[in-house]
Amino acid sequence: MVTATERSIAAAEKYSAHNYHPLPVVVATAQGAWMTDVEGRRYLDMLAGYSALNFGHGHRRLINAAKEQLDRVTLTSRAFHHDRFGEFCTELAELCGMEMVLPMNTGAEAVETAVKTARKWGYRVKGVPDGKAKIVVADNNFHGRTTTIISFSTDEEARADYGPYTPGFEIVPYGDLAALEAAVDEHTVAVLLEPIQGEAGVLVPPAGYLAGVRRVTRERNVLFMADEIQSGLGRTGRTFACEHEDVVPDVYILGKALGGGVVPVSAVVSSREVLGVHKPGEHGSTFGGNPLACAVALEVIAILRSGEYQERAARLGDHLHHELGLLAGGPAVTAVRGRGLWAGVDIAPEIGTGREVSERLMARGVLVKDTHGATIRIAPPLVISKEDLDWGLERLREVLTG
Ligand SMILES: *Cc1c(COP(=O)(O)O)cnc(C)c1O
Repeated sequence: MVTATERSIAAAEKYSAHNYHPLPVVVATAQGAWMTDVEGRRYLDMLAGYSALNFGHGHRRLINAAKEQLDRVTLTSRAFHHDRFGEFCTELAELCGMEMVLPMNTGAEAVETAVKTARKWGYRVKGVPDGKAKIVVADNNFHGRTTTIISFSTDEEARADYGPYTPGFEIVPYGDLAALEAAVDEHTVAVLLEPIQGEAGVLVPPAGYLAGVRRVTRERNVLFMADEIQSGLGRTGRTFACEHEDVVPDVYILGKALGGGVVPVSAVVSSREVLGVHKPGEHGSTFGGNPLACAVALEVIAILRSGEYQERAARLGDHLHHELGLLAGGPAVTAVRGRGLWAGVDIAPEIGTGREVSERLMARGVLVKDTHGATIRIAPPLVISKEDLDWGLERLREVLTG
């Protein structure tokens, strides 16, 4: 007898490109922090769509906002105005304490937009000679999958055989302020960083690093572009991870949770001096800032305005890190990093790979995902209850010490 799970996976393996290696679970429905598979088994979601689902599955306010908008208008293209667009840009700019918004759809598109913006700002405002603009980035970065973005990746898997690569980037070690300062020259238009590196395994930079980057970029007239696509919008216990060092970058790059796990919504948010460099026809997106995206994102922003989920992420995050700290004292875990409801847990090789631990957790009803071989990433929806979080941590303890 072929199960529904086997049938689904066989079809995916046969007809979908193998650019992912999913865990062998086939989700049918989800609510809050829980997912149910095609056989009716329930799983605690401790990944939250890589932070796209910060507010959980099926959040009533987000689903209702989407449903209401579906019955009104879903797409106009930017050829015309629509009645949610101005409101969305105003609210997002205010949430960020910035002046202008350039909406796109996916995270990678927002990063591309930031790269193009910084270059144009460099030529038009800073006065960098044509074609010379340089952007400083960090090693182990993850900013998306486009040809330009993988050009400055240090992950061979993400990069190999996709060249020729886009020039104009210099890679420095993440967390090393002196190296970053030395890389900044008169042609440097921007420093592009994740305030906490997500895909790399939830790497938190040394204290003072982001504040140091802010000082250097300000002194040298270079834009500080913070890719908060994964770290932002509540995950770390603040609206933005940069806030932990009282840093305000020149450019926020947002995505993932901005679309509430309902639709892809991304944006570059900055000052008038920076985003004002684009004129009609120079950059755009057919779906960027569409009515459905704006309606959902407006509700996301309203939810963030209350501060409720930032506070939850901070409180439950303290608990998570306390519990993980106890595990890190034992032989099964070699390191734990993170902030708020976000953690990278390095598994000792004797216990198994990150993949094997993820599969054992799946068998016990908890879904996480490995990264870079030995690490599992824990990022539950911020709506998770303390009881459910403890239940998930208990399963992790069983798998690691069982
Ligand atoms: C996920 C992610 C991206 C890319 O977003 P996509 O929507 O997958 O294109 C970029 N930067 C960071 C930090 C991310 O976590």
